Amino acid sequence: MASVESAYHNWHRRIDDLRLPAKYHACAWCGLTAEQWSYLRNSDSEQSGYGRNGVLRVWAEDSRCYVPQCRSCHRKFDQAYRRVGREGLADAVAPIREAAYAAVSDERRVAERKIREASKAVALRFLEAQDKGLGSRYGRQPIEAERATQELLTRAYAQGPSGISPEDMRAAWIRWSGDR
Ligand SMILES: [Zn+2]
Repeated sequence: MASVESAYHNWHRRIDDLRLPAKYHACAWCGLTAEQWSYLRNSDSEQSGYGRNGVLRVWAEDSRCYVPQCRSCHRKFDQAYRRVGREGLADAVAPIREAAYAAVSDERRVAERKIREASKAVALRFLEAQDKGLGSRYGRQPIEAERATQELLTRAYAQGPSGISPEDMRAAWIRWSGDR
């Protein structure tokens, strides 16, 4: 069995593959450029264990349970979790999230978004070129299709059952599985 440390890091690399690294997204709280994928502590299949140097690693192998966050907001989220636990976490973080957003100007958010979009376009082109090579080698579906499905699922998850139409889900599934 893989060690806790490698299971944790493999999973984080997987999120980067599916949703791109956090640095290509806005922080879910303050809107500045994110740095880390933050686990929302809301999965029923959470995993945890002690990794290298006795650091407690907690993760869930469901990328819908993650949001991009900057280091500062991520730290505040984890502090709130340690204070109140899973119950009441939503209430505890609401005012912290609001304060984090209010502390940043719209101008700064826009400026960071422009930089992010330019670098994201370059990164996507690179990843897709790389993926074409991998796809032919391992005979699997391109990550591009899997990523599109993932984005749809994430959106549906965030918006609830009415967030997305069954047709859209089916189209995404077909793109992913190649089932025609
Ligand atoms: Zn932030």
